[in-house]
Amino acid sequence: MKSLSDAVATPDNWVIYRRLLRYSAPYWRVFLIAVFGMVLFAAVDTSFIRLIQPLTDGSFVKRDPEIMRLVPWAILGLFILRGIAGFLSAYGMAWVSQKVVMSLRGEVFEHLLRLPVSHYDQTRNADLLVKLTYHTNQVADSATGVLTAMIKDGLTIIGLLWVMFYMSWQLTLVALLVAPFVAFSVRFVSRRFKIINKRLQDSMGGVTHVADEAITGRRVVKIYGGEAYEAERFGTVSEFIRRQSLKLVASSAGASGVVQFIAAIAVAMIVYLAISGDLLRVPSPGTFVSFMGALLAIRAPLNALTGITERLSRGLVAARDLFQFIDTPAEQPGGTRALTRARGELRFENVEFHYGGAETPALNGVTLDIKPGQTVAFVGRSGGGKSTLLSLVPRFYDPTEGRVLLDGHDVRDYRLADLRKQIALVDQNVVLFNASVADNIAYGVRGSVTDDQITAAAKAAYAWDFIEKLPQGLQTPVGQNGVMLSGGQRQRLAIARALLRNAPLLILDEATSALDTESERYIQAALEELVQGRTTLVIAHRLSTVQRADLIVVLHEGRLAESGRHDELLAKNGLYASLHRMQFED
Ligand code: ADP
Repeated sequence: MKSLSDAVATPDNWVIYRRLLRYSAPYWRVFLIAVFGMVLFAAVDTSFIRLIQPLTDGSFVKRDPEIMRLVPWAILGLFILRGIAGFLSAYGMAWVSQKVVMSLRGEVFEHLLRLPVSHYDQTRNADLLVKLTYHTNQVADSATGVLTAMIKDGLTIIGLLWVMFYMSWQLTLVALLVAPFVAFSVRFVSRRFKIINKRLQDSMGGVTHVADEAITGRRVVKIYGGEAYEAERFGTVSEFIRRQSLKLVASSAGASGVVQFIAAIAVAMIVYLAISGDLLRVPSPGTFVSFMGALLAIRAPLNALTGITERLSRGLVAARDLFQFIDTPAEQPGGTRALTRARGELRFENVEFHYGGAETPALNGVTLDIKPGQTVAFVGRSGGGKSTLLSLVPRFYDPTEGRVLLDGHDVRDYRLADLRKQIALVDQNVVLFNASVADNIAYGVRGSVTDDQITAAAKAAYAWDFIEKLPQGLQTPVGQNGVMLSGGQRQRLAIARALLRNAPLLILDEATSALDTESERYIQAALEELVQGRTTLVIAHRLSTVQRADLIVVLHEGRLAESGRHDELLAKNGLYASLHRMQFED
């Protein structure tokens, strides 16, 4: 027990226990029922073995008719009680732990939504998903398992020890003397078992990894004829697992034989002492049978109890990870200034921005005035800072130096929710959710708009003609991330979404990938509709957008290199003119 207290009773861990307890505290009534079940279970198991003595002596030795009549009924009664107790404890604990999992999981997910964008830059998606699924379960499993082991198995052990002492304290002492030797050998063998098991688990990951790569890369595999290579890779991992599995079986089967033999030596010794020696002779056959029953029955709960440290520390690791995640600072709600509808005047004032850890600034001394309703095209080489500059407006990031002003006030002064309400976004990677077309257009405002409004937006975005032809019209599910739709259709849905949002600011990241002329024309027309009466910031890749813009801003290595109208900039024969020659001429 020393190792238990060493490993898991640090002050740091107590904080985690207490915090976990807070999640389960509301369900203490159900928890008490489960505990009652565990106590009853331990009591029944103990009583059963205790009763073997009078049953054996009464029916087999003395052939007492009263006892012989009662024995079968007693057995049935005890097992009914045992069943009820087992159900109460298992179901009660699961009920509480599933409640805890749900609130933990909900909290993690909500926190995930409130994290600043910068946090996602540093974290892999898979790590976030693992927290939601695996870690939350791990915490609950381990808490349930540990509590059950401590209460149910702990009480059973105490009960059985009492039976043993009651039947023969001398034999019990002998058993207790031999026990450490048995325990030691079991430990030795099971350690090797664990190492192999760990290796096996790791290689199971290999199987999913290889399969996952082959599935996601299916197009590449097919075109490059990688089937044989993939199959061979899979075969290697598979073979490794087969060997490890066999080793595991060999070591477990072999080990259990060895362990049992060691245990048998101990048992044989006790039996010998019980039947031969005068000193240790037991008073009746029933006493001996009952004693042996307790001795054999004590093994299972002992096993459960010895695994408790590992279980506990696994749960602790997962819990600590979850709590750390929940404690990472969420996005702040911003300032206090309310904003119903902005006029749409924007000013970037000497803006500098560093991504965390980056040496060179992504933006450096950018100053720019944009009047309400203007369309501003941002051009420049990739990496010039266009996306970074635009992501400062909805406060995905805040400038390291300088300010961004909307209608004359720092964007940081506005309530964040109010600020973001002013902005519609059409990204080049259109994000569609696995829902109906209507839900995707009305994303975030589904409850407050009518189908007519959605239809109107779809029509204005030149999306209605294809939506109409879909099997269920507006109600057609778009599939995971809109796989059912073409690139041009997705763009038009995004435009409809932005139209419905009707925000005074529009951030537009034009698609770089070429669309067919037909889609292109529709999208052009839809965009013209969309930019009306809004301040529009476009990351422009198309000649037409750039030419029609009220202002063109050339960003180069984080600095504002040039700005002006198309003709002015061409006449200047600077960066824009050369970009124009390179990019836009064809
Ligand atoms: P553009 O939109 O003009 O292609 P970006 O604004 O995307 O340029 O990038 C500007 C600079 O910032 C680039 O050097 C890019 O590598 C860097 N950058 C962009 N996004 C991140 C990020 N999330 N973390 C770190 N650096 C980034």
